[in-house]
Amino acid sequence: MSIGAAVKEGRLPGRVWMYSNYHCNLACTYCLTESAPAVARRELSRTVMIEIGRQARELGFTDLGVTGGETFLMLAMPELLAELATILPVVALTNGTLFSRRLLARVEPLASLPVALQISLDHPDPETNDAMRAPHNFRKVVTAIPELVQRGITVRIATTAESIDETELERLCTLHREWGVPDCDHIIRPIVRRGRAATHGLGVPVDQPDLPAELTITAEGAFWSPFAPTVRDGRLDTDLLITRTTRPLSVPAQTLLRLIQARPPGEDSTLNIR
Ligand code: SF4
Repeated sequence: MSIGAAVKEGRLPGRVWMYSNYHCNLACTYCLTESAPAVARRELSRTVMIEIGRQARELGFTDLGVTGGETFLMLAMPELLAELATILPVVALTNGTLFSRRLLARVEPLASLPVALQISLDHPDPETNDAMRAPHNFRKVVTAIPELVQRGITVRIATTAESIDETELERLCTLHREWGVPDCDHIIRPIVRRGRAATHGLGVPVDQPDLPAELTITAEGAFWSPFAPTVRDGRLDTDLLITRTTRPLSVPAQTLLRLIQARPPGEDSTLNIR
């Protein structure tokens, strides 16, 4: 079966994820990739990411995702996202802490393109939010989101369900609605117990069937899901590696499709991990 047909029939998710880099200006308690300023960067170059984007479109995938690490530590990220968005719609994950006036000006052209920035915000109380992420994280994020929305950029907010009750969630929702981020762009998901989250005993333990089978490309291979190429004790986890070959993209795409087709019926994801 062709990849395009598998995507059209809903057998294969349409999005291809790329890990642009693994380093980050933060070091969150639940980080799946043990990201921090001085870790191994494991970068994908701009050329490679554009090539993967083009091959994804040719194969029949419908969307791209860019994640890390902090994606905006890659210096050319605004221009790269603009280029990727001419190939396929793209969502980029960011911690939202680096949006200086200068960076805001550089991302402004993304407003007219099919690009969404997904920003993490875990709690309506700065102290609780910052305890999981970093000092001043809350202040930086609640400053950046309205600035981005005012410039016409699509913003999605991702909240981990680890330490938030219903009342607190409602307060968080009131905030994002005030900023102009609709409920459909607010994602609430459990923490996956891998990487630093596993070290700290946070989140839910997962097995392969719990994770979305979305083709995920890193500098070190292709993986089952964006929640798969995690890092523990500085080493990349390879339990959910599907192949070291990342290009041509048809190789990992067909490998993933074969694995999906080999799954017994009823083994679909149930944990709302996305
Ligand atoms: S969770 Fe995101 S923001 Fe936090 S350290 Fe990891 S990559 Fe950085």
